[in-house]
Amino acid sequence: MKKFLTRVFRDTSTPKVKGVHCLVFTGAVIPTGYGHVRYEGEVWRVHRAAWTERHGPIPVGLNVCHHCDNRPCIEDRHLYLGTTQDNVDDRQRRGRQRYRAKLTDAQVREIMASTERQVDTAARYGITQGHVSNLKHGRMRATRNL
Ligand SMILES: [Zn+2]
Repeated sequence: MKKFLTRVFRDTSTPKVKGVHCLVFTGAVIPTGYGHVRYEGEVWRVHRAAWTERHGPIPVGLNVCHHCDNRPCIEDRHLYLGTTQDNVDDRQRRGRQRYRAKLTDAQVREIMASTERQVDTAARYGITQGHVSNLKHGRMRATRNL
């Protein structure tokens, strides 16, 4: 077992993803939020090194992505191989789920049809003006059947 795989803690303040909390790397974390380690004579992002250590080389053209969006996390169940597009899709899907939790479809329809000022709509529904703006422009729910 590589040493960096043991420099972690189970962060119970994170939401459970796939049944477990994040396993957060406690070593050097650079400003982008990724943990960095020395691995096979080079500097690696820790989640990539962890993946390689457990599963072998990362195929060309694929990235090691996080289900949990927590960059220093190296919990194996939170990592998956995907294209950059998978990563974007995954993030957007989660974004939509988050918004969905707050507003019903009926409320979203009302907001989209509303002609009042966005700040007033936002105040009425307890959401941000940016969220109202996104809904009105269909950015968050473009693919949903409203
Ligand atoms: Zn995680």
